[in-house]
Amino acid sequence: MVNCPNCGVLVEKDSKFCQECGTKIDNSDSNTQTDVSSDYEKK
Ligand SMILES: [Zn+2]
Repeated sequence: MVNCPNCGVLVEKDSKFCQECGTKIDNSDSNTQTDVSSDYEKK
């Protein structure tokens, strides 16, 4: 189960959309930070 980012209701992880508000549920795997090294340049 995951929380809807819009209304916070619990939705099934398999669901693509919240059944309450229709917000798209982003249930992709969390390895999205491919460019971590670029953050060092901000300092
Ligand atoms: Zn919702």
